[in-house]
Amino acid sequence: MELDDVLAADYSYCILLIELIRNITPKEFQENLASIFKDVPDQSCYTRKRDDLINQFASKLLEDRPTESKSDENMQTQKGGKDFLCIDNAIFQNVRSYHQEQARERLEDQLKKLDTPTFDKKKFQVALFGWVIHFEKNDEFTRRVKDLYQKNKEVFNIDTKGQRYTDTKKAFIEQYETLQIVEDVIIPKKADSLKGKMKIVRVTSIEKGNRFYKTVCLARHTASKNEQYMFEVIRDFGNFKLKTELKKGNDALFRVRRVLQTKKCHHKDPTTFEPCQRRCMKYNPGDSGLVCKNCNHMHKQINLYKDMKHLPVLLILQRRGRLGDTFPDSFNCMDLRICYRKDVSI
Ligand SMILES: [Zn+2]
Ligand SMILES: [Zn+2]
Repeated sequence: MELDDVLAADYSYCILLIELIRNITPKEFQENLASIFKDVPDQSCYTRKRDDLINQFASKLLEDRPTESKSDENMQTQKGGKDFLCIDNAIFQNVRSYHQEQARERLEDQLKKLDTPTFDKKKFQVALFGWVIHFEKNDEFTRRVKDLYQKNKEVFNIDTKGQRYTDTKKAFIEQYETLQIVEDVIIPKKADSLKGKMKIVRVTSIEKGNRFYKTVCLARHTASKNEQYMFEVIRDFGNFKLKTELKKGNDALFRVRRVLQTKKCHHKDPTTFEPCQRRCMKYNPGDSGLVCKNCNHMHKQINLYKDMKHLPVLLILQRRGRLGDTFPDSFNCMDLRICYRKDVSI
């Protein structure tokens, strides 16, 4: 199994889950926990919503992979560099199960401490939260938890007091590196201003980088139903120049520029250097250009990474040696797990 693919699967899994995790209220959490213990889970519960997303994503991964007979033809297109594939669904499913295992082990550790002096209710609730979030199948362990739940309802009732519940969620997210990165990079749908961060993932080859890109974009597409803006994914494979890429009209970068356009026009006349300085941003409906309808300028030029300040972006980087570019202040994390670890612990 390729480490780059494992990480792409992990990012995708976290992208699919993050909005659901953010939105689950203490009441919904409690209802969902009760639902897990039933033979037939409720339709409206978190687990159900999550599984819908995961199944949609998985079937798209399956569609993307060529069947036996078609594989030769597809390999050709892949070699031509025009088309490339997502990761294998089996890898995604493995990553998913891995998360469930981890969460189960964490809860098991905490359950052992129940009724002992080392028991810590906060830690227990973080483990319980994680177990519910990743919960996959009803088994022997679920029955054990159910028994304990009926005997110790007080401990299992998640603290609903605002701050405590937020802290439990936060502590849970912090346990998983990728989830923390995704939580950081994706702007909550409710957010009113653009204060995104740039995160960088280094991949080991262009081919794997393309696969990473396609997979993560698919996860974003699946998670953000009607293509609501969440974050950008950009590839930088060595010979990449933001300026050239912008001229080529790369889709993602086009949206980047639209979002980054300012109300105030920063255009300067090329001969007189007279600044325009109007506050007039307006686009024709349905127009895909970036030129303001009122003053006929593009209000802000985006040529360098540092011009992308506050844009939420996941940058997939495949380059040797040092980074020549200056990254914006909002760049605060480089995921080097693929390059420096023999096996990826998620
Ligand atoms: Zn204008
Ligand atoms: Zn102008």
